[in-house]
Amino acid sequence: MSTQVLESPVRRPSRRRPQPSGKTVSQRSGEAADLQAEIIHAYSPGALTWKNVDWAVVVWMTAMHVGAVAALFFVTWQAVAVAVALHWLTCSLGICLGYHRFLSHRSLKLAAPARFFISLCGVLSGEGGPLTWSANHRIHHARSDREGDPHSPNDGSWWSHITWLFLLRDKEMTARTHQRYTPDLLKDPILVFFEKTYGLWLVASGVALFAIGGWPWLLWGLCARMVVAYHSTWFVNSATHIWGYRNYETTDRSRNLWWVALLSYGEGWHNNHHAHPRLARAGHKWWEIDMTFYAIRALQFVGLAYEVDDRIPTGEKADPEHTARPC
Ligand SMILES: [Zn+2]
Ligand SMILES: [Zn+2]
Repeated sequence: MSTQVLESPVRRPSRRRPQPSGKTVSQRSGEAADLQAEIIHAYSPGALTWKNVDWAVVVWMTAMHVGAVAALFFVTWQAVAVAVALHWLTCSLGICLGYHRFLSHRSLKLAAPARFFISLCGVLSGEGGPLTWSANHRIHHARSDREGDPHSPNDGSWWSHITWLFLLRDKEMTARTHQRYTPDLLKDPILVFFEKTYGLWLVASGVALFAIGGWPWLLWGLCARMVVAYHSTWFVNSATHIWGYRNYETTDRSRNLWWVALLSYGEGWHNNHHAHPRLARAGHKWWEIDMTFYAIRALQFVGLAYEVDDRIPTGEKADPEHTARPC
């Protein structure tokens, strides 16, 4: 008599079984695919026409660059010192540590006071609200140097450096992009508050600088400081996907570029980052100076940062979990 192995009576979920939303699995996956196709189109260079130029961004960027040139005629040591201090606060702490490693990649946790202060520093950088910045960045990792990457040099070096910022997406598309890519961040009321009030903080910071130090503080503390930080960040999107060396085999064009790493407080070790995006440190070799990671260590020392993913990878393989993959 042969023994027969009976199959467990576990039932596989039917693709037609209604979900809590009242939609079947196939309906939901169809909608997700439609949304993804919409997002890919909304971020493509072909979507930029004269009808959907974000004129607020164009006017702001133009004003900041004109102000940065004007700053050369209003030099005071105090104003330059304010610009340097604000540059470090907003670019290293705000963008590199806050928006990038903390919010976009969850490489560390921050105690409440530091969470608020560093998110505010990110807002004052003038690089967008925390939800939009993180959503754009998560899309970049998910589709790096492929169709749908918001700023790949495959679409032109100027596109990856600045032009992609001029593409206006309507409020509904922005909200759906946040729901798709930053559902975790949407649960934080402080981040939602900063996202909604983002522009007001920039205007208020300009008014405060002018009230305290007149034209020199406004032109250096706002315009010159922002323009230097903008281009440092933008070089990470453009130059480090074009020039430099690679420590890891990744499926994108990311490179490590020393001068961008110096300008951007460590973010220029971009091939390291694409290979291991969850890690809190971007410099993996002893000579790869990473100012932002040193700031993380300082916060950790005083108890404001914890659960820091400070591993150093071995070998040349990218982390298979985190290499570019379809989103
Ligand atoms: Zn990249
Ligand atoms: Zn990243």
